[in-house]
Amino acid sequence: FQPDLPELLTPQAMAALLPRRSGDAHKGSVGRVLIAGGYANYTGAPALAALGAHRAGAGLVSVAYPAGLELHLPLESVRYPQEHWSPEGLSHVRAEAAAVGMGAGPQAEPAAQAVLSRRIPTVLDADALQPGIVESYARAGTPAVITPHPGEAARLLGSEAASIAASPLEAARTLAERFAGVTVVLKGGPTVLARQRGSGVELAVGTTGNPAMASGGMGDVLSGVIAALLAAGLEPWDAARLGVYLHGLSGDRRGQVGLLAHDLAEELPQARAALE
Ligand code: AMP
Ligand code: MG
Repeated sequence: FQPDLPELLTPQAMAALLPRRSGDAHKGSVGRVLIAGGYANYTGAPALAALGAHRAGAGLVSVAYPAGLELHLPLESVRYPQEHWSPEGLSHVRAEAAAVGMGAGPQAEPAAQAVLSRRIPTVLDADALQPGIVESYARAGTPAVITPHPGEAARLLGSEAASIAASPLEAARTLAERFAGVTVVLKGGPTVLARQRGSGVELAVGTTGNPAMASGGMGDVLSGVIAALLAAGLEPWDAARLGVYLHGLSGDRRGQVGLLAHDLAEELPQARAALE
């Protein structure tokens, strides 16, 4: 890799990353995902992340959320209502990767700390994108992928969303330096990825996606997709790049304005098959 030249995500390179499934695969062997989020009227966000994980090929998806919330989950998801967020509440969930923060509101911090106790590769999204939370994952050495849009990146860096959107390559690089060891997915048109590597920063730029994806819930689906790829055994950098590529490709295959996040999720299996 060349430290200053961003990689453009190509179909060839992304196809090579697709997790292969052997003939004796079973739901416990292809990657199990924990989704943690939801608060008050934000019940759609964790449900969309769960849908994204299912449609990206997770063998099992478990969803932890505050008890009392009514979540419209896929029939196939397993429910773990939490009286309050704690490591004990998640200790029985079978998962090789997690995504936390979607719709979690003021409960994002305890939710993220509870998930951190599992020490599994984790996507930090939405309300979990706070400097203290990201630092605690970096300190613990738990593989983490952060998925901020420019507004959330501004919160992480103490800067302005507009300047981040104006120079996303620079902003993604700054995030990777500020949160060393963490994989950065700075979402937008285009999405820019970054990670620290040796003394430099490796950058990649998404080549799929379109403005029809500018609607609520799209980012929640992406979190579930990346978590499913992490659970399947991909390294964070590979899971993030392939996840961003497949998510954008699904959006392009259904690219009309009026596209809903769950419509995009339904396209994921066909997008994946087309890439294969
Ligand atoms: P969020 O704001 O968390 O819902 O995330 C929005 C998702 O939609 C991200 O994956 C963005 O990359 C994608 N998206 C939104 N607007 C565009 C755009 N104009 N071009 C490409 N992708 C977009
Ligand atoms: Mg979001």
